[in-house]
Amino acid sequence: MNNGPFTEDELDQLKRLWEQGMLTREIAKALGRSKNSVVGKAHRLGLKARPSPIRGKRVGPPKPRVEKPARVVVRSFFRPRPPKPPTKPVPQPYDGPLVAGVGGRRDVCQWIPGDPMGADTLYCGQTTVRGCYCEYHHSLSVRIVKA
Ligand SMILES: [Zn+2]
Repeated sequence: MNNGPFTEDELDQLKRLWEQGMLTREIAKALGRSKNSVVGKAHRLGLKARPSPIRGKRVGPPKPRVEKPARVVVRSFFRPRPPKPPTKPVPQPYDGPLVAGVGGRRDVCQWIPGDPMGADTLYCGQTTVRGCYCEYHHSLSVRIVKA
């Protein structure tokens, strides 16, 4: 393979073949030179760049596209909203009779609605739900503590 400088004849041939649109591979073969030297020379000579044969091959009929099934994207606004949690029933105050003599018992609400210093301390007396109070008085005690 000739790696020396291009002769005038070679340059003419290169230009002519290049203009004809011959593949660089073919020109290189005709000149007995490497493809890279042909491409480099053509570039230095300022010859018009030609569409790459690799790219040119893609110009043919486009490949039929395989239709993929569209992915179904479920957006959040299409989703049914989760049902709201039922609002907690507000515990109703106990207005039944108060009981005496249950102080200190864990099973009876220890809420004292009246005077805690009275002689007969009266308690709510409902069954305890949390701690030592019924549901209602527990909610009251929590509110008082938080306030
Ligand atoms: Zn109570």
